[in-house]
Amino acid sequence: MNKYAIGVDLGGTSVKAGVVSLDGKIINQISIPTEAEKGPETVANQIVKAIKEVSAEAFGKEIVGIGVASPGLVNLDGNTVEAPPNFKHWDSFPLRDTVFKGLANGLPLLIENDANAAALAELKFGAGRGEDDYLFVIWGTGVGGGIIIDGKIYHGPHGGAGEFGHGSIDYNGPQCNCGNIGCIESYIGQRYLSTRATKYLENKKESVVWKLVNNDASKIEPQVLYDAAMEGDAAATEIMSEAGELLGVAISSFMNVMNFDLAIVGGGVSAAGDLVFTPMNKRIKKSVMAPLRPVARAIPAQLGNQAGILGAAGLVM
Ligand SMILES: [Zn+2]
Repeated sequence: MNKYAIGVDLGGTSVKAGVVSLDGKIINQISIPTEAEKGPETVANQIVKAIKEVSAEAFGKEIVGIGVASPGLVNLDGNTVEAPPNFKHWDSFPLRDTVFKGLANGLPLLIENDANAAALAELKFGAGRGEDDYLFVIWGTGVGGGIIIDGKIYHGPHGGAGEFGHGSIDYNGPQCNCGNIGCIESYIGQRYLSTRATKYLENKKESVVWKLVNNDASKIEPQVLYDAAMEGDAAATEIMSEAGELLGVAISSFMNVMNFDLAIVGGGVSAAGDLVFTPMNKRIKKSVMAPLRPVARAIPAQLGNQAGILGAAGLVM
């Protein structure tokens, strides 16, 4: 068991790198700025720097390989990454090969989309252990996803499978960032959810939410809605409960197509727990095909913000 892998979680503001044991423990971890505004060459350099820094702390340990979890579309070549959101001057860039050359240590280096990596982390070390097939949903700023089939990440013929947040639940719904109409993300992604909540609360000045944000509508966000709901506020409970149910609608459609019975849901907003999971599961039970009803369920992810590093390391373990 004296073997380790290095996992890198590439984010818009920081590059996190960790040394991970084969049983999924992060034994040490560092974080440096991404410098995303300086373009992909700089970002690749920062990744190299983070890996070298964390490797130095792992002196004397056997490192079996390195994995990188990156936002954006990771092509099937396992090398080029296209247009990660919030990264400047980045069209298509050979991230894997650039980092590999920069490291010059010859260790296996694999790169994977960040939501897929998080899905893999849950499979190896979290809520997905012992499962073969499930949908992983990451519910935060946006709504992302990863699909596990037969215990492996499913990439699809163009490498971009798992864009769960851009399945539409209403063709007359709101305009989504991606260009489509009524995507689940355009209802419950953090920013959209905050906007919807603000509108809903306009005529409900008695709601605790207004007190919590000092009447500043720009401060209404899922965390505040959660806090208000925990104080028994009816309007906040209603909004979060509806968000959970909407996610249930999207999950059950996916389950019906794939014949899946499990969804693992992580990300910041999912931390609202039963407040969103109870209505989500109620909707799933109602909306899946009859044979799935006794078994279909959505459960919380277990790894939180460690999922990026763990999933990246999991690529080479
Ligand atoms: Zn969309």
